[in-house]
Amino acid sequence: MSSDRRVAIVTGASRGIGRAISARLAREGRHVVLVSRSAGPLEEVRAGIADGGGSASVLAIDVGDGAALARGIEGVAAEFGRIDILVNNAGITRDNLILRMSDEEWDEVIRVDLTSAFVAIRAASRPMMKGRFGRIVNIASTSGVVGNAGQANYASAKAGLIGLTKTVARELGSKGITANVVAPGFVETDMTAKLPPDLRDQYAAQVPVRRLGQAEDIAAAVSYVSSDDAGYLTGQVICVDGGLTMA
Ligand code: NAP
Repeated sequence: MSSDRRVAIVTGASRGIGRAISARLAREGRHVVLVSRSAGPLEEVRAGIADGGGSASVLAIDVGDGAALARGIEGVAAEFGRIDILVNNAGITRDNLILRMSDEEWDEVIRVDLTSAFVAIRAASRPMMKGRFGRIVNIASTSGVVGNAGQANYASAKAGLIGLTKTVARELGSKGITANVVAPGFVETDMTAKLPPDLRDQYAAQVPVRRLGQAEDIAAAVSYVSSDDAGYLTGQVICVDGGLTMA
């Protein structure tokens, strides 16, 4: 691999939005480090990228384990001598109404969806500062912007990502590092597959562009935000939701 190839870390790369982001960044010439819990599915993503002429490697980590995540990111920096792009995309839902939400449901979502991003940014910011270049992209949700009944844990984690992003943008902007949020609306992935078809139809009917989002719609936004061209874009929340929230 040429040493001037930009290195991107994408969490939650085994399927859905993270997989589409990884494929897109690899197609655009980045080496992509694919992160999620099990190596098997990541290996399939890696093979698909390699078949298309791209470059990727696999890092099986539970991002909810902060020590393992920090070690993994430090390992990437040591192996490649650089980290240029970090996409914090791994996420889970544990939906429940507030009255019924357990401490475990709250804690797990905060740990996986929010704390992991803080840990990853802390670990990646040193190599980014060294390279005087960085693109941090946190995948939040329109739930974190406008709230969503049944998602107190998830909406709080995603809103937390927005505050984290704006703070990172302020702290690291002078070092050539940008931080932005991409906030998807309803995207057709495993995460939303369990929702009843009538609810999906109702949602699509309310979206100004009259369709549900696809993982590639989100990947397209991440592609720009993480590009060399996007150096003057930082601290922003880009809602990729077909115009539903217009927040
Ligand atoms: P998905 O299809 O359920 O995929 C989630 C990804 O995260 C998988 O690769 C999963 O891999 C990984 N992951 C989950 N827990 C992990 C952990 N503890 N450690 C490492 N990896 C973990 O979800 P998606 O729809 O693509 O969502 C991706 C992101 O977009 C999430 O942050 C989600 O909140 C956000 N988002 C999605 C929608 C939507 O409508 N789909 C809307 C707004 C925001 P393994 O299970 O193999 O570990």
